[in-house]
Amino acid sequence: MSRRKSPAHSDAPSPTGRVDDVLVRSVRVRNQTLKLLAEQPVEDLSVQQTRALARRIQRRGPHAIQALFDCLFDEEDPNRQHLAIMLLIEMKDAYVQKRIHQLLQRPDLPERVRVALLAVEALSDESLQASPSVGHLSEISLDSLIQFTDSFWESMEVEEIAMMWSQHFLNEPPAERLRLIEMLMKSAKPKMLGIAYIELIYGDTKILQFLAEKLGMFNDPMAVGLLESLLDNPDLMVRTNADRSLARIRQRRTLGPPPESDLLPRDRFYRAYIVSDPLSGHYSLVYAVKSPNGLIKFLVALLNRWDRGVTDCWGCVRYTIEEFNELIATMSRDFADLNQSRIPKRTAQTFLYRAMELNQRRGYAFPPEFSVWSNLFIKDAFTEDERVPEFGPDCSLCQKPLRVPSHGVPWVIGDLVICPACSRRSLRCPACGGRAKPADCLVTQGNSRDDEKINLRCPHCFEVLPLPPRNTEQPSR
Ligand SMILES: [Zn+2]
Ligand SMILES: [Zn+2]
Repeated sequence: MSRRKSPAHSDAPSPTGRVDDVLVRSVRVRNQTLKLLAEQPVEDLSVQQTRALARRIQRRGPHAIQALFDCLFDEEDPNRQHLAIMLLIEMKDAYVQKRIHQLLQRPDLPERVRVALLAVEALSDESLQASPSVGHLSEISLDSLIQFTDSFWESMEVEEIAMMWSQHFLNEPPAERLRLIEMLMKSAKPKMLGIAYIELIYGDTKILQFLAEKLGMFNDPMAVGLLESLLDNPDLMVRTNADRSLARIRQRRTLGPPPESDLLPRDRFYRAYIVSDPLSGHYSLVYAVKSPNGLIKFLVALLNRWDRGVTDCWGCVRYTIEEFNELIATMSRDFADLNQSRIPKRTAQTFLYRAMELNQRRGYAFPPEFSVWSNLFIKDAFTEDERVPEFGPDCSLCQKPLRVPSHGVPWVIGDLVICPACSRRSLRCPACGGRAKPADCLVTQGNSRDDEKINLRCPHCFEVLPLPPRNTEQPSR
C-alpha cells in the first residue's frame, strides 16, 4: 500500500504555469477549497446542495478542482474523499476528464485512487457511453475495490445504487457483472440490495443463482421480498437456493431481531401529490418519504387510467424539505391548467396499486425504474381508498377493454367511457329507428335506481338508448 501524500506536497503536476505567484495563488485557492470542503456536512448533503457546491468550486477554476483530486489521495479522511468523488461526478467538466486521463497514466498511482478516478469517470454522464475504462473496474484487485466500495457505497441510498447499477453496469456482459457483484456483496451490506433489485429484473440465470443464495445472508426484510419473487423462477437451482435462503432467514429470526446496522433506514411516508387530467386519463403522482436523517426521497409515476397503467417512473433522493417544497411549487406552476392536489397516503397507494394491476391485466411491462422506486410505498401497510376511479374500464358501448392509442383519448362523459372507434359509430334508436353518433345524443342524469348514472338519449325522440350491460367478467388479453 502506498503512503498517503498530503495535499500540500502532492507530486501531481500543477495544471498551469510554474511562475511563483501562480503557485502561490494555486496553493491559496486549493487551501480555500479544502477548507470549504471541511465545512460541509458530508452525510447530510442533498443532491441539490452537492450540485450547488460543485458549481461553486468549478467557478473558482482548475486550482479549486485540483483540490478535489488532492482529496482522492487523502486516505485518512474517507468522508472528504467521498465528497470529492461526488463533486467531481457532478462537474461534467472537460478539465476533470483531462485530469483523470493524466492521472490514470501515472505508474505509481495508488490502487484506491485509481478506483476512485474510474468511478468518477464511469459515473459522469458525459463519459458514460464513450468511456472505455468502465470495463477496467473488473481488472482492479479485489481488495482495493472492496475497501473503496464498502464506505463509498455506504454513503449512497439503496435506490441510487440500483439506478447507478442499471445505468452504468448493466451493459457489461453477465459474467463480468457476476464477478463484480460477488465482490461487492462479499459482506451483506443492506444497501447492496439495490443491485439485487435491478438484477432480478434482468434475470441472467447465473447471477440469479448467486443472488438466491447470497440474499439469505441479508437481514433486511427487503431480502425476503426479493427471495420470494425468485421462488417461481424457471431455473431449479435458483428456486432451490431461494428456498434454502428463506429457511435460513426464518431460522435466524427465531434467535431475535437483527442488529440495526443490518437493516436499511426506515423511511416514513411524508407527502403525496397528484396532478390529474381526467379526460386523457393521465395522472402524475408524487409519493415522498422521509428518511431518518430528515431528507426526502420521492418517486414520480405517470399513470394511464384507460389502458397502460404505470407508464413511466423516476425518483430522487436526498432532497431537503425546502428543496422538495420548491419542486412541488414548480410542478404546480407548470401544471397550472390541471388540478394538482395533495392527497392522503392511502389514496396515493390506491392509485398506484390500481395502475399496477392494470399493467399486469393487460400485459404491459413496468418501466424498469419502477421496481426500484415502488419500494417507497410497497413496504407500507395499505387500506384501499374506494373513491379512486376504476383503472382499465371497458368501453361502455362495445364492452371491450379500452385500447387507447397514445394520441387518442376515449370519449368520457360522467361514468360513460366510449372508445375512439365507438365514438365514431352510429347508433340506432330502437324507439324511433333514427340513427345518431354518441356525440350527437343528449345526455341526462339517470335516476338513482339505475345502474348507469348517465343516460344517452336519442336526439330525435328523446328516448334513452339502451347500452349493453356492464361487463363484469375479467377482460381477455
Ligand atoms: Zn367501444
Ligand atoms: Zn329515437
